[in-house]
Amino acid sequence: MADRLYAGGEDYTKEFDPGDYLRTYYAFDSGPVAENEILKFNLENLFQTFSAGGIGGDVLIDIGSGPTIYQLLSACETFREIIATDYTEQNLRELQRWLSQEPGAYDWSPAVQYVCELEGDRSRWQEKEARLRRTVTRLLKCDVTKPHPLEPAQVPPADCVLTLLALESACANVDAYRAAMRGLVGLLKPGGHLVTMAVLHSQYYMVGDKKFFGLHLERETVEQAVRDAGCQVLRCDHRSLSYSTSFSISEGICFVVARKDPAI
Ligand code: SAH
Repeated sequence: MADRLYAGGEDYTKEFDPGDYLRTYYAFDSGPVAENEILKFNLENLFQTFSAGGIGGDVLIDIGSGPTIYQLLSACETFREIIATDYTEQNLRELQRWLSQEPGAYDWSPAVQYVCELEGDRSRWQEKEARLRRTVTRLLKCDVTKPHPLEPAQVPPADCVLTLLALESACANVDAYRAAMRGLVGLLKPGGHLVTMAVLHSQYYMVGDKKFFGLHLERETVEQAVRDAGCQVLRCDHRSLSYSTSFSISEGICFVVARKDPAI
């Protein structure tokens, strides 16, 4: 049914196609201009946070990685180990395909080159790909609607939890979003960093010809959820950009860097 709105949980398992998602949002130079601008906004913010900003450590956990690796390109320079996670098997398989350089793996090289250029040497992109492949040590299933999103897997307390564009897909309402944020902060060491990016005022987004629910968030709702989960907001970069293939009431996007209270 063309007009059905798919939401969290099993709809993702059955209906989310990694290839459609990648082609829609991550075609880089050949894709729609807005999608490209948002990807660059994220890559620049990630560069500012990790490579330039010096946030690093032992373990980074990326929550709701989907089939994408762009969000790890700066962090792989500053963390010893990265754990990528998603709700669906098909996204984890797509990640594995890229990590083990299997035939048909997505070509991320334009994004990798872009990040290398930000770091000052575009020519070292293959070295960065190799580094990221070494740094991602585990692919785990996760469910952010659970209080312990990675159970039953055992993971060490993280120095950083990263989550881009996932909570607003998975959470049906603001209460669920706030609870999910608490679950993610629970994965952090005291004093660890939470880094998140969200679409504001979203209603849905397209994956191929399928419509997926997007939670309507205000910038203040995101910041308050982060604070109430026990973090101090260090930076919030807001930009008036909207995806051309999704529907939001053009309130743009925001990228938030926060730090968990060292005393909890
Ligand atoms: N982080 C990626 C992917 C975002 S797409 C990016 O920046 O592009 C949204 C992702 O949320 C999908 O990969 C989907 O599988 C995941 N997701 C949906 N429900 C979830 C849940 N309950 N727990 C964790 N992830 C979920």
